[in-house]
Amino acid sequence: MRLSRYFLPILKENPKEAEIVSHRLMLRAGMIRQQSQGIYSWLPLGKRVLDKVNAIIREEQNRAGAIELSMPTLQSAELWQESGRYDAYGKEMLRIKDRQDRPMLYGPTNEEMVTDIFRSSVKSYKDLPLNLYHIQLKFRDEIRPRFGTMRSREFMMKDAYSFDLTREGAEHSYNKMFAAYLRTFDRLGLRAIPMRADTGPIGGNLSHEFIILADTGESEVFCHKDFVGFDIPGENTDFDSVEGLKAIFDKWTSLYAATSEMHDEAAFNAVPEAERLSARGIEVGHIFYFGTKYSEPMGAKVQGPDGKEHFVHMGSYGIGPTRLVPAIIEASHDDNGIIWPASVAPFDVVVINMKAGDEACDDTCELIYAALKKAGKDVLYDDTDDRAGTKFATADLIGVPVQIIAGPRTVANGEVEVKDRKTGARETMTIEAAINRFVA
Ligand code: ATP
Ligand code: MG
Repeated sequence: MRLSRYFLPILKENPKEAEIVSHRLMLRAGMIRQQSQGIYSWLPLGKRVLDKVNAIIREEQNRAGAIELSMPTLQSAELWQESGRYDAYGKEMLRIKDRQDRPMLYGPTNEEMVTDIFRSSVKSYKDLPLNLYHIQLKFRDEIRPRFGTMRSREFMMKDAYSFDLTREGAEHSYNKMFAAYLRTFDRLGLRAIPMRADTGPIGGNLSHEFIILADTGESEVFCHKDFVGFDIPGENTDFDSVEGLKAIFDKWTSLYAATSEMHDEAAFNAVPEAERLSARGIEVGHIFYFGTKYSEPMGAKVQGPDGKEHFVHMGSYGIGPTRLVPAIIEASHDDNGIIWPASVAPFDVVVINMKAGDEACDDTCELIYAALKKAGKDVLYDDTDDRAGTKFATADLIGVPVQIIAGPRTVANGEVEVKDRKTGARETMTIEAAINRFVA
């Protein structure tokens, strides 16, 4: 991508409305634009990051055996009347009428709709377990939308829904998502800690919020320090192994971890003082087993091996991609801007032409740009006629992991500078060596 032909509306000034660093940086880097309160456009640079986040989420959902579909944002109120949630949901739900005066709503979540899909075609235990997910916009008319896309009214969610014949089966489905979430957040460069969450009237211990530690987080959290160093389940995790996944779940729930709603002061004080961590956190995911809460009122049942009909046991599993992007920035930035983990960086590398119009600089940059594109890399080429200082500031701000800098002096020796955005380390090397770093 040539910057001269891209759409990257960088802000020079610090936007006053932004209270936290991720919101400031997303606005300054031209990633998002607020269209009305709590409703955002994702501009090209932001969209690239969001797509990469979603691709990782999708890969890990698929690895764990979940199956992607796509459900609409607009739903009929009827389904919600069946489950009894239409009246209970309150003002967070955006209610709309169509031209026939039929009540509709913009989905805040999809339990009812997915249960309807399930009951219309699944009739036998032989088709279970089943886990269906989509990545789709949601709307919740939050009282206090704030911090940019961290808490917005329209936001994206990956929501998965599992169906099992028995509670034991549902626990295995839960553990699959538990392990998939650990892997997902790790691949996004984040350390997320699963913390016990309220299960309401269903009881049991099968609800966890995945929390990232950050000073600007809205939740107050308490946990054992050791979680910070726990191993993440590997790529070869066998998601069909009931014992294997149970072991991962047991390990990751063996120490104290709770948000303020579930906090037990006495249990926390039993942790040796030096091992206690009390901090602030951002909730990036939430998984929940809720049994037959929706299958009973909505009549979602299957025939069991005993020939009888059974209401299915369900769980739901959410991740917020449009919250994850700012959460990653909260965890990874410096005074100059964003520092993207390579896995979600909008571009792998930026080529900076310090003197556009200078034949040697232009030729060198074009050569590198073409070679890296050919190698399948996402390359941004700053071919604009801005001052070098402006280009450096932009590259640092947008946080691309590697910068290849070509100026008249280095180019005259057949060399360029390669800068690591995170460490700031610069290395001078031949053009060929710079290319080979990426092509190898
Ligand atoms: P919160 O307590 O932050 O309001 P929630 O408990 O309402 O979250 P869930 O219903 O569990 O959230 O939704 C699943 C995920 O969707 C959350 O973990 C979060 O990542 C994301 N999410 C929820 N509400 C918002 C929002 N208003 N803006 C952005 N992301 C959100
Ligand atoms: Mg909420």
